[in-house]
Amino acid sequence: MKKRTFGATGAIILLLTVILCSCAKSEPHSASFQSMDTLMTVKVYGGDSDLCDRLQQRIAELDAQLDATDENSEINQLNQKGTAKVSDDTADLIGRSLQLSGELGQAFDITVYPAVKAWGFPSGDYHIPTDEELKKLAARIDDTAIKSDHHTFTLPEGAMLDLGAVAKGYAADQCDTILKEGHAAAAVLNLGGTIRLYGKKPDGSRFSVGVADPDNPAGYFGYLSCDGGTVATSGGYERYFEKDGKRYIHILDPTTAKPVENGILSVTILCDDGTAADALSTALFVMGLDKATEYYRSHRDFDFIILTDDHSVYLTEGVYDEFTLCDGYDFHLKKVDR
Ligand code: AMP
Ligand code: MG
Repeated sequence: MKKRTFGATGAIILLLTVILCSCAKSEPHSASFQSMDTLMTVKVYGGDSDLCDRLQQRIAELDAQLDATDENSEINQLNQKGTAKVSDDTADLIGRSLQLSGELGQAFDITVYPAVKAWGFPSGDYHIPTDEELKKLAARIDDTAIKSDHHTFTLPEGAMLDLGAVAKGYAADQCDTILKEGHAAAAVLNLGGTIRLYGKKPDGSRFSVGVADPDNPAGYFGYLSCDGGTVATSGGYERYFEKDGKRYIHILDPTTAKPVENGILSVTILCDDGTAADALSTALFVMGLDKATEYYRSHRDFDFIILTDDHSVYLTEGVYDEFTLCDGYDFHLKKVDR
């Protein structure tokens, strides 16, 4: 009799231990850190306990290679010397960027750095170039003139690279390898507005991603529900300066070297490929609503949410039913058909 009682108690203890362990397993590990000039937060469900550290290290490694403002980075060296041999990562990202630039046309160009610098965005020492200066700067933007021989890249005279429009998306893609190797069940990586949604959450719930309110970027005007992929947002509110009541944003039109002014406040892209999501968010911002819609209709392998300054929110078919406007926002949701 006694033995049986102990057996039952043991079974209960064992059951409780299993339940407690599985609860503990569904609690994510998380870390916040500064990298790529922004605050990043990574949250990982399951897998090796050091995954957050490994993700942080990998992103820091990429930042050290790709940051144009860091004198020791490969991109800075290439910009200074005009020709340089670079690592696998840097060569890979320049190659992907040139391929995306070919598809996106004049809206996206990684040789935009002399213009970005002239406006003072990297230093914060802002300046409005003259029309004459702008003409010269626009003439220097042309990534089709970059030459490559394996990992050695040569820039045309006066050109400098800026991978700021794609680096976070590329980092998100690279994090997948670490998450796979470390057997993570799921992860939410917020790399400063570029958000990677990996795997399936242990409780089976879908991912929910807030879309920043440009008037209050710490808050959200709506939420997108999705099963995975990368959600990348480009917004004028992320970096800008104001002079004489006019706002100048950090996203430039490569054909004029001027900050974009087309009524768009933010572009959010949902796409499996992080590098493409990041390039698309910047490029569709430059294209403007009509060209962005045309581009979507001829490609379709991504979705967008475009917020304009008349408080309209344009959502493509794949995200329209998955988006919830937050209380208190009198925005008009408009469906963009295929
Ligand atoms: P994102 O926040 O991803 O839209 O990237 C914006 C950053 O990309 C800017 O801060 C610039 O460094 C760079 N950039 C600005 N305009 C362009 C453009 N038209 N094509 C490529 N890169 C750009
Ligand atoms: Mg981008």
